[in-house]
Amino acid sequence: MPKGDFWNPEMELLDRGEIEALQMKRLREVLERCERSPFYREWFREAGFYPHKVCSLADLRSLPPMDKDTLRGGDPRRFLTVPLEDVVRLHSSSGTTGQATVVFHTARDIEAWTELVARCMYMTGVRRSDVFQNMMGYGLFTGGLGFHYAAERIGCLVIPAGSGNSRRQIQLMRDFGTTVIHVIPSYALYLLDVFRELGLDPKRDTALRIALIGAEPHTESLRLRLEESYGFKAYNSYGLSEMSGPGVAFECPFQEGMHVWEDSFILEVLDPDSLEPVPVGEEGELVFTSLHREGMPLLRYRTRDLAYVYPDTCRCGRSHRRISRIKGRTDDMFIVKGVNIFPMQVERVLLGILGVGSNYQIVLDTVGSRDEMRVLVEVSGDIWHGEVRELNRLRRRITEQLRREILVTPLVELVEPGTLPAGEGKAVRVVDKREHVREE
Ligand code: AMP
Ligand code: ZN
Repeated sequence: MPKGDFWNPEMELLDRGEIEALQMKRLREVLERCERSPFYREWFREAGFYPHKVCSLADLRSLPPMDKDTLRGGDPRRFLTVPLEDVVRLHSSSGTTGQATVVFHTARDIEAWTELVARCMYMTGVRRSDVFQNMMGYGLFTGGLGFHYAAERIGCLVIPAGSGNSRRQIQLMRDFGTTVIHVIPSYALYLLDVFRELGLDPKRDTALRIALIGAEPHTESLRLRLEESYGFKAYNSYGLSEMSGPGVAFECPFQEGMHVWEDSFILEVLDPDSLEPVPVGEEGELVFTSLHREGMPLLRYRTRDLAYVYPDTCRCGRSHRRISRIKGRTDDMFIVKGVNIFPMQVERVLLGILGVGSNYQIVLDTVGSRDEMRVLVEVSGDIWHGEVRELNRLRRRITEQLRREILVTPLVELVEPGTLPAGEGKAVRVVDKREHVREE
């Protein structure tokens, strides 16, 4: 139950010493639990890591970090530290077979996650009197159900609108007096056009006061533009399926970085090459250990997300450390419309299609207010010089197969062989021209 301005004052107001003591206690429990999982028994043995010898958080660093590849390499059930009967749900990161990573949750995991997201929402000012419209994809994505449960826990009236269907979203907002939305920032930008087409002004014609935005990188200027146009406050929300989903780090009303809930996660910021910790304030890769997950805890999970830690303590009184916006990635993954995509997925599809040549390029751009993904594909000489009908057929086939693999429909353009920049060294596979993604 919330007390005053805090959802969970006992956890939110811990001081640094208390946070570290609690982390150590929980880490011991997690390590003990991990020994029940076939994966971890092997992982520990191979690394010569003795969990019962861990006496400090620094000791954890003798364990090699894990990443998406570790998760993908076999049956995800081998990570379980509980019998399969105790698992009540699975979620999966965006990306289809091969690229997807599966995370299992017990009832207690869902409970802990719900509490954490409720804590984040409450921190931004969401209350039981609010009408919460969740404009994120439901299903395997974590942004749907994760926020849904949390908003119900707070006691909001929840509208599970899901993603897309813009006119209906606006209709719902107006019919039911939506005050809080959870939305992908690029979609919130696009929705402004739809408001305009309908002759509506979100500031005047809706009751929106808070937006929770996340799931993809975005700039401070995009946030300001959204706040100005909608008349709401927009709070940055960071999470990843492997750490349950949203609720890992969230902005407080001061909007100076996102608090990482350190009672539930151990945060490390590492140099992606040396894997040594970087000094406070310097950019590095975020690495998390989950402390509240029962079914499938993850230890030292490399997110590939780059950010830095703020050196000072927040004015809100919480001493959970704050991370900056996500500045980029250490791998080539990119996010379009909230969906994670790896160039490898595109490559694999193209390689399997007859008539496709030897080179391709992905171009991301903002057209109007919408994100557009173009895939330029060199075709073979015969196709290029052949019939237009054949070219069109090929383009349709590529579009359809890509859509099935990456869950986003790209604009496919076929180009003449030899016209794309050739791969001298590492070919530039992705050209990202979207202005709201990265600050110069
Ligand atoms: P998923 O596992 O599908 O939920 O995707 C998680 C990834 O989305 C993270 O590793 C980040 O790269 C990205 N992401 C999530 N939230 C944010 C955010 N607020 N800002 C930037 N990137 C984000
Ligand atoms: Zn704060």
